[in-house]
Amino acid sequence: MTTPVGRLPPEARLVRFQSSIDKADWKLAFMGGDERARIEGFHPDGHAVMATAVRGRAVHAYVFADAGKKTRKWVATNPDALTYFLVHQQLPAGAARRRPYRKCRCGKRRYPTQALAKAALLDILTNKELRQGRRATETRAYRCPDDDRVWHLTSRKSWRHGTPAHRRREP
Ligand SMILES: [Zn+2]
Repeated sequence: MTTPVGRLPPEARLVRFQSSIDKADWKLAFMGGDERARIEGFHPDGHAVMATAVRGRAVHAYVFADAGKKTRKWVATNPDALTYFLVHQQLPAGAARRRPYRKCRCGKRRYPTQALAKAALLDILTNKELRQGRRATETRAYRCPDDDRVWHLTSRKSWRHGTPAHRRREP
């Protein structure tokens, strides 16, 4: 008898993406846990993929795909299309393309990847002396606590110890 996929631990359901990301030679990032897991792959040119698994729910797959001349956006798609994207850097014809549900309610400026948040931070820091009437205080990029596909900038140096993940809010 086989175990229904939804009953497998979240990280076990992301293993298939790990081998695909490795094989495509993209940089891999993994966050595992009993209740949820996340795997990410990054191509040097800025393309990215992400899959998330929550216990008891279907795996969600996303690709950071071209959405115009110079912009890229997160697109929710199906797991097989993610694997295709690792090879071709574009989605196959007929693949699901949905706008991901945005859970961020921080009211702060949103960046879709850590790399773009860090680039924006660098831009702020290198230009701060040129900006009249605005003192740049941002020092760090962090992932939105509510949305895996959102990054923010903050002036706070690091997390306060002992703050539960779902309570973490930065200024
Ligand atoms: Zn947020």
